[in-house]
Amino acid sequence: MNPFATFLLSLLNDLGIFALMTLAYGFVLRRSPYGPVRSAAIGCLFGLGAAVAMADTPDLGSGTFVDARGVALILAGPFGGAIAAVLTMVIAVAGRVALGGGNAAIGVATTVALSAMGLAYARLRLSGARPHRTTQFLTLGLLSCLPNAVMVGIPGHVGATMLGFLLPVVVTKMVGVLVLGHSLAATRQAVIATLRLEEQAFVDPLTGLPNRRSLERSSMRIIDDAARSKRPVAALVIDIDHFKRVNDRFGHDVGDAVLKAVAATVVTNLRAGDAIARYGGEEIVAVMPRTSLDEARRVAERIRGAIAREVFDEEADIGGVTASIGVAVRSGPELSFKILFKAADEALYRAKELGRNRVEVAAPLALAA
Ligand code: GH3
Ligand code: MG
Ligand code: MG
Repeated sequence: MNPFATFLLSLLNDLGIFALMTLAYGFVLRRSPYGPVRSAAIGCLFGLGAAVAMADTPDLGSGTFVDARGVALILAGPFGGAIAAVLTMVIAVAGRVALGGGNAAIGVATTVALSAMGLAYARLRLSGARPHRTTQFLTLGLLSCLPNAVMVGIPGHVGATMLGFLLPVVVTKMVGVLVLGHSLAATRQAVIATLRLEEQAFVDPLTGLPNRRSLERSSMRIIDDAARSKRPVAALVIDIDHFKRVNDRFGHDVGDAVLKAVAATVVTNLRAGDAIARYGGEEIVAVMPRTSLDEARRVAERIRGAIAREVFDEEADIGGVTASIGVAVRSGPELSFKILFKAADEALYRAKELGRNRVEVAAPLALAA
């Protein structure tokens, strides 16, 4: 086939690989937690992309390959971090060695250099933020062509003698870095925006606690688990006493600060697996899996005591803040959040009637099978 046509087909092939890489990158960002696991997953993905790009590549003569591996290599650091850059490099080096040819050693050296440059670019934050602008990708593209430009200067290197070498390499890399870079950046932006919106939809902005919608979700999981494990679930409904007075006397800002302090106190006295939410205005609800009545009462007492001891506003001198807590523990296959909440809320009502700053427990009741 005409070498130009061969080159164009190979470039189209690379664009297809980049599209798949972008899809997989979005998947990894959404699914895998932050940190080393994500970086490693991105490294495997970029390494695979580099290897596939290499596997189908026109040989311009005597083992000199024009391929898009450099695109994945230079972008691995900026889009995946250090682990990703190293893993991409290792996989690409293995691929290059497997490919063989007279210039394998130079190919390996180029591969290492490209990863290092990508990582250095990411680490030095030359452009401040993560790359997302055309100028940044042009810079990265030019950087990725640097080793090839050096290769042309190596005496005896096949590429050096070939007019047709540097041009296709530069076109492949510049187009590649621009296209893949922009699509990765767009995907990253979209994932970040989605995660942020999801967080906003499930978090109360004042206290930072999960909101009611979030609790309804997490308590569903807890109640499903309870049905399987046949263990009881506990709910605490915590309501600040005479909170309206705090607002009326000291202002809404002090009220807000008290609410935040109460929320923090409740959180520190719960276990890791417990679900919690700011359920209403000054009402916090906790749903506790696999918890007996005694345990639930103990936790409630601990929270009540901690609020009475620890929550006050020094500046406003509001004196002590107290809360009343309703506790209910239920089990059985018919259990629902609604049933559990209603029982705990009724107990809270009693706690208010009986003088506040106290814990009241709903009478134990196993829901019939
Ligand atoms: P009780 O002991 O019976 O619970 O009395 P209370 O005054 O706490 O109860 P009530 O339900 O009458 O008042 C709740 C108050 O909580 C009314 C409302 O102004 C206040 N509140 C609700 N949300 C917020 C908030 O986000 N910030 C502040 N500062 N106040 C809030
Ligand atoms: Mg109240
Ligand atoms: Mg209330």
